[in-house]
Amino acid sequence: MQDRLWQEIERRRGDLVALTQALVRIPTVNPPGDAYRPCAELIGARLARRGYQVQYLRAEGAIGDSDRFPRTNVMARKESSRPGPTVHFNGHIDVVEAGRGWSLEPYAGVERDGRVYGRGTCDMKGGIAAAIVAVEVLGDLMPELPGALEISGTVDEESGGYAGVAWLAEQGLFSRPRIDHVIIPEPLNVDRICLGHRGVWWAEIETAGQIAHGSMPFLGDCAVRHMGAVLRKLEDELLPALAGKRTAMPVVPEGARQSTLNVNSLHGGLAEGFEGLPSALVPDSCRMVIDRRFLIEESLDEVKAEVTGLLDDLVRTRPGFSYEIRELMTVLPTLTEAEAPVVQAVGAAIEAVLGRAPAHVVSPGTYDQKHIARIGHLRDCIAYGPGILDLAHQVDEYVEIEHLVQSAQVMASAAVTLLTGNTY
Ligand SMILES: [Zn+2]
Repeated sequence: MQDRLWQEIERRRGDLVALTQALVRIPTVNPPGDAYRPCAELIGARLARRGYQVQYLRAEGAIGDSDRFPRTNVMARKESSRPGPTVHFNGHIDVVEAGRGWSLEPYAGVERDGRVYGRGTCDMKGGIAAAIVAVEVLGDLMPELPGALEISGTVDEESGGYAGVAWLAEQGLFSRPRIDHVIIPEPLNVDRICLGHRGVWWAEIETAGQIAHGSMPFLGDCAVRHMGAVLRKLEDELLPALAGKRTAMPVVPEGARQSTLNVNSLHGGLAEGFEGLPSALVPDSCRMVIDRRFLIEESLDEVKAEVTGLLDDLVRTRPGFSYEIRELMTVLPTLTEAEAPVVQAVGAAIEAVLGRAPAHVVSPGTYDQKHIARIGHLRDCIAYGPGILDLAHQVDEYVEIEHLVQSAQVMASAAVTLLTGNTY
């Protein structure tokens, strides 16, 4: 039976490619969140024809939702006549902008040399197409499977997922007993299982100064120089300390297997955008946004205290130094246990389809798993899908057609295992 399942998916290779292309040809660029509704409808209409109950769920009132750019999610569910668990495949339908420098049309879905090219092929419309074809083949070949299969196409993952998975989770749609197991077909490579991600803490630091004439800076107090002192502290003390904090989480790439901090932006003095010359002013404010990624071994309190400790040091030692800090976003690290049912089922399926053991990895950045874990309290969740992680958001993004087929075979086998409780 397993062979028949895989052969049937192989036989639908052309359909899988065509579906990937059709999804890519709807440019769901975020921001601003274009064309979500037609993309959701493409998925919904296709699954409705297969007997799925389809709901279009607009996140009214959520961040980013407007009549011009409605945040429309699609949720499709098919229940068997036999009771059992629910296996859910969640894919984000939004893509980042194409950017410049493409050698081919980014929204044409060009097929060439065994690949489909275009923005979103890898991250992650190829993964959505693979999951859809996997459940369709299961419906055709194994209609007697117990439980339920679900597929969602959700918005805004690239901007935090607040009108997508977070909003749906707040409505109770990503919790037990409705859903038991979740696979997110993000591009993590066809033989790897992503167990979770590092944490995030974004904050804006503002240093204060005193405005004065630029020809007599000694009469004022320069907020940018105060920020320079903060940057020196980061360079001399915090960044070396962070480089020394290693994690047992199998984060990829290797460089992210430690704590990191990015200086995201820096603004001081006169605002830009004027014509002509600037006026002579000592800046009275300077703002810096930092993006701190932390490890499961670190506590959020410790992460914050490192930064405020360094700022408080400057308050004590640097004349005139004062600061404010505003927290912009916090995401705790999340990690599904290697023994969890979905990890075991997908791992066994990778081994069966590809003939090699799966690698367990952790993502350096976050993705929608955070909302499923934190809001939905659903722990049995991983990311697994076709596409090479490094190609996400790049120019000339592509997905290998062979990987589309293999990942669909893995997803179908894993779903059978999870629905029946027997390794398939
Ligand atoms: Zn993605």
